[in-house]
Amino acid sequence: MLVPGVVAVGLVSLAFLAAEQQRRDGMNDLRLRRVQVLQAIGLTAAVHVAQNDMADLDTLVALFTEANKNELLDLAIVDDDGRVLANSRPELFNTVRDDAFTRAAVSSETPVWAWSKGELSLAVPARAGIRWATVVTRWSLEGLEASISRTRAQWLGVALALFLVLGAILYLGLDRLVVAPIRALQRSVKKMEGGSLDARAPKLSGREFSELSDNINHMAQALQSQRENLERAVQERTHELQELNGRLERLAVTDGLTGVFNHRRFQEQLASEVLRSQRTNRPLSVLMIDVDLFKRVNDSMGHPAGDELLRRIAQVVQSTLRQTDLLARYGGEEFAVVLPETPKGEGIAAAERARQAVEEQVNEGARWTQKVTVSVGVATWPDDGTTPQTLLVAADQALYTAKRAGRNRVVPAEAAA
Ligand code: GH3
Ligand code: MG
Ligand code: MG
Repeated sequence: MLVPGVVAVGLVSLAFLAAEQQRRDGMNDLRLRRVQVLQAIGLTAAVHVAQNDMADLDTLVALFTEANKNELLDLAIVDDDGRVLANSRPELFNTVRDDAFTRAAVSSETPVWAWSKGELSLAVPARAGIRWATVVTRWSLEGLEASISRTRAQWLGVALALFLVLGAILYLGLDRLVVAPIRALQRSVKKMEGGSLDARAPKLSGREFSELSDNINHMAQALQSQRENLERAVQERTHELQELNGRLERLAVTDGLTGVFNHRRFQEQLASEVLRSQRTNRPLSVLMIDVDLFKRVNDSMGHPAGDELLRRIAQVVQSTLRQTDLLARYGGEEFAVVLPETPKGEGIAAAERARQAVEEQVNEGARWTQKVTVSVGVATWPDDGTTPQTLLVAADQALYTAKRAGRNRVVPAEAAA
């Protein structure tokens, strides 16, 4: 607003100066023209006065007054004493004018004038050869003042229009060149602030804005790649931790020697399967497997060979089971199996498959100093027990029955009763 304001103030000052100049020029011009006219009138008037032709003098004054009625306020032809010989107002005939201006006029050989508010007093000697009288006039300056006011108003109008146009141009230019680019940058930065680091500042014209936009984009790019690196690192760590956790979980439920599940895991599985059977009323079988005369293997071949045999037996038994069955090392040279959805007959069949597989596969190649066999006790929910504990006791009792009956056999809990 400053620039158009200064221009407008300049224009207004210029307008006033111009109007003042115009007023001065106009007044001088007016005075000179009036002097010429009055000298011409003065000549005619002098002739009438010289011939003492007062009627024609009156007519001359009347005609002139009529012709200039818009501007002429008063016209008097006076003699050297200021006596009125003729007047635009005839009633003033023969009065004496004793004002300072008239006195100055009658005693001057050249035109005399005086400006007062809105009026020009002007007097010229009336000569025809010699001086016969003086023409004394008063003129209204209204016309001149009105034209000056008009000029001033026009200049003011131009100044106002220029102020508005310049203001509008500057405002629009400023908006397009400065405000709009800053807003665009602000929008992008806001987006980045909100977490969208893939947002970019727009390409802007103008060296400073373009550099600023590039700088912001470089910063966003750097932040974005930093964040991506961080996210990648966090992802990798999370993945490693998950893997480690998985390994720990597996370790916590796995038997270190044979690789099958451990006692704790077996107990958990049995408990949850019993709950499920109670809920669904579907049968569930448990096997207790004990290696026959295992002590002798340790004694004759040493404990490492005994360990090896345990691993082999676990492997062979596992190969006879379904995916949903769970094999665990119960302790020492005893294994246990949970068989979900398995009625007594199927449980016995599964036990028999395991027993047979051990007898056939573990003894292949005659690696061991004795024939390796297992005895198996089978208990089924709900016939032989309705809780994990009672089921295990039933399976254990059946196992010992098998031992007593000569080993290498499967005995269901019923037979134990
Ligand atoms: P039975 O047919 O009556 O079961 O005779 P057994 O010799 O298998 O019975 P017993 O319970 O008397 O012997 C079990 C042996 O298993 C005793 C122990 O030294 C051995 N044993 C227990 N755990 C391990 C193990 O982790 N590694 C090895 N090598 N031997 C073990
Ligand atoms: Mg045993
Ligand atoms: Mg044994």
